[in-house]
Amino acid sequence: MNQVTAIDNKFSASQTALRKLYESDTRPWVIAYSGGKDSTTVLQLSYELLLEKQAEGQAGKPIYVISSDTRVEPPNVAAYLSQTLKAVGEAATADNLPLHTQLVSPKPEESFWFKLIGLGYPSPTRWFRWCTTSMKIKPSRRAIENVTRTHGSVILLLGTRRLESVNRGNAIAARDTNERGLNPHHEIPDALVATPIVDWTTDDVWEYLYSHNPPWGGSHDFMLSLYRQANGGECPLVLDLDTPSCGGSRFGCWTCTVVKEDKSMQGFIQSGEQNFQPLNVFRDWLKQIREEQSRRSPLRRDGKSAGPGPFNPATRQEILERLLALEDAVKLRLIADEDLCAIQGAWNTEFDYSHIVSKLAAKYGREITMDIPPVSASQTNPLLDVCARDADFPLELAQHLFDTARNRYAYLDRWGAKAELERTLKELIEKDINQALQTDPAHDL
Ligand code: SF4
Repeated sequence: MNQVTAIDNKFSASQTALRKLYESDTRPWVIAYSGGKDSTTVLQLSYELLLEKQAEGQAGKPIYVISSDTRVEPPNVAAYLSQTLKAVGEAATADNLPLHTQLVSPKPEESFWFKLIGLGYPSPTRWFRWCTTSMKIKPSRRAIENVTRTHGSVILLLGTRRLESVNRGNAIAARDTNERGLNPHHEIPDALVATPIVDWTTDDVWEYLYSHNPPWGGSHDFMLSLYRQANGGECPLVLDLDTPSCGGSRFGCWTCTVVKEDKSMQGFIQSGEQNFQPLNVFRDWLKQIREEQSRRSPLRRDGKSAGPGPFNPATRQEILERLLALEDAVKLRLIADEDLCAIQGAWNTEFDYSHIVSKLAAKYGREITMDIPPVSASQTNPLLDVCARDADFPLELAQHLFDTARNRYAYLDRWGAKAELERTLKELIEKDINQALQTDPAHDL
């Protein structure tokens, strides 16, 4: 038996197994599609199966294709993913297939920039990898749970392969599978996991992709060139924390500080994406400043434990300003309007009431309509207005103190709440004095 025949047999065995699985029950499939080679193979096998079922008049049960965009993906990878997903969706509609695509992304309060700049989380490390749960797991889980709510339960198709790594092989061997090769997902209720290419080698995957153009049109050439530029590797669609850190492999977020060096970005730059060089420099800077104690608050976010705590307000402001300047320099949108609004909201409750975010954004040519209305005399409580004038107290500060007390400390019977309120108000007043002194050292409050 020659090599080509052996591979063909392997492909056709996987196709047969997939067909059997499709026909075995009415559970819809969810394909976790990352845009990488393994999940592309699973998607392509499934699409081809649907075409066959369609020709037989039996393509009844739906397939949902879910992809995740963290909103800090390398720009070329993000563009490729959304374009491919769009092409798949359009082709499925044209082919009249029950296949639906969805690109999920973190909510503003789950985003990298909100956590880093809004709340001051230090840039992620291997030991404090807050980003994966927020940016990848939660959005993907929400989408899968929507499907399970509608259909009761689902079969989740993953592009996992035994030979990907020793750890992966051990994890697969440790799973309890039923006679159809399915195992329950250990964290997602009502989801059974299928791994249709579990026994494929990396060469099998490439062989398949090289010899089969995608049924949704076009070719795999761009994906192959991405791999070549980024020195291989990919970040799978992460559904749980057992999935290996995408930061440890490649095609991770361009902001990823979990890795020592971002090899894929370096590969892209060497292959001609010169525009990514400043992004890589910015990432290195983010990695470096997390170690600088002077940039961290002395207390953790709970206000009680000793630090190092989150990035202090000055550092958060500096990160935002540098990010906006970077965006302006490379002419790429790096932070979304809604993330800027969320950051302003977080800063409002912590230390800022002078709308620094909008001012900085405007400085770099971005007009942001904040959902958080600016405080103006016409919007203030008239009684507060009178009191502030009588006491010769800055109205904006009075309004901010009032809003903070009302919104954050509505109930003071919680243990420690009064002391916390006093401390917060004191910090806000000190901040106001410092700001005034910085603007005008002779300022007299
Ligand atoms: S690639 Fe890095 S920054 Fe992005 S989610 Fe993974 S570990 Fe976090």
